[in-house]
Amino acid sequence: MGHEPGGQLSITTEVENFPGFPEGVMGPDLVENIKKQAERFGAEYMWGTVQEADLAAAANEKRPFRVNIDGEWHETRTLIIATGASARWLGLPNEQKLIGHGVSSCATCDGAFYREKKIMVIGGGDSAMEEANFLTRFGSEVTLVHRRDQFRASKIMLERARSNPKIKFLLNTVVEDVYDVEKKLVTGVRLRDASTGRVWDQEVDGFFLAIGHIPNTKPFVGQIDLDTDGYIVSHGGARTNIQGVFHAGDVQDRVYRQAITAAGMGCMAAIEAERFLEAEGH
Ligand code: NAP
Repeated sequence: MGHEPGGQLSITTEVENFPGFPEGVMGPDLVENIKKQAERFGAEYMWGTVQEADLAAAANEKRPFRVNIDGEWHETRTLIIATGASARWLGLPNEQKLIGHGVSSCATCDGAFYREKKIMVIGGGDSAMEEANFLTRFGSEVTLVHRRDQFRASKIMLERARSNPKIKFLLNTVVEDVYDVEKKLVTGVRLRDASTGRVWDQEVDGFFLAIGHIPNTKPFVGQIDLDTDGYIVSHGGARTNIQGVFHAGDVQDRVYRQAITAAGMGCMAAIEAERFLEAEGH
C-alpha cells in the first residue's frame, strides 16, 4: 500500500453509491472495513512506494516478477496493479501551499465548507460541470473558469451547468495564481484573458480544480502497455499484456472511476490471479 491507503476514497466524505449502504458510508470507514475484511482472509499489509518494476515484459515467461519498494526489491509470482490516479494540479506558485485552506481537488470532500461562499471551479470537462453543479448546493455563487471556449464535457453535462442560474462561465481565461498564502486562506485569484492578455483579480473563498487525473503508472512505464495518457491498457477482464499481471481501479479506468467499479475489477483481478497461480502449478 502507498502512503495514502484507500487512495481517493480515504479523502472522500460520504460515499452514496456503494451497494449495501442505504444511508451512504463515510469513505475512510469503507476503507477500514475493506481492509479488515481482507485481513480475515489472510491478507497482510505493508506500506511503501513502488519505485521500479521488473516485469520482464520482453520475455513474458520470466518469473518471478520483481518490484522495488522504497529501494528494496521484492519478488512475486503474480501482481495486481491498483495504484489509482491522482488529481492533476495547475502548478501555480501558491497552489500547493493553500491545499486544505481553500484549494481543493475534491468537491465532494470539501464542498460543504463553502456554504454561502464564493466558489471557483477550473476545467472544461464532465468533472468540472459535475462539480460546479454540485457546489451550487453550498456556494452563494460558482464561477467556472475554462482556458478555451470549447468544452470536452458532454453536451448534457454542459447544458445542465449552463442552465444552472448559480453558475457563471468565464471562458478563454487562465489562472495565474491563487492567494493569500500569508493569511493561510484563499481570498482571491489572479486571472488572465487568454485572448486579450488582460489581467485582473477576483475574490473567491473556495478554489476547486477539476482538470483531470494522472494515472499512477510511472514505475511501470516501459514494462506494460500504457495508453498515451499513461493509463494501463486492458487486455480483457483484469488482464494486462503481461500474463500474471492484472489491473484494478482508476489506474486503468478513466470512464467510471467509482469505488464500486474499482472493487468489482479488484474482485475480477483476484480471481484471475488465483486461476493464473493454479495454472502455473502453485
Ligand atoms: P477531462 O475530460 O480530461 O477534462 C479536463 C479539463 O481540464 C479539460 O477541459 C482541460 O482543458 C482542462 N485542463 C487540463 N489541464 C489544464 C490546465 N493545465 N489548465 C487549465 N485547464 C486544464 O477530465 P475530466 O473532466 O476529469 O473527465 C475525465 C473522464 O471522466 C471523462 O471521460 C469524463 O467524461 C468522465 N466523467 C464523467 C462524468 C459523468 O458522466 N457523470 C463525470 C465526471 C467525469 P482543455 O479542454 O483545454 O484540454
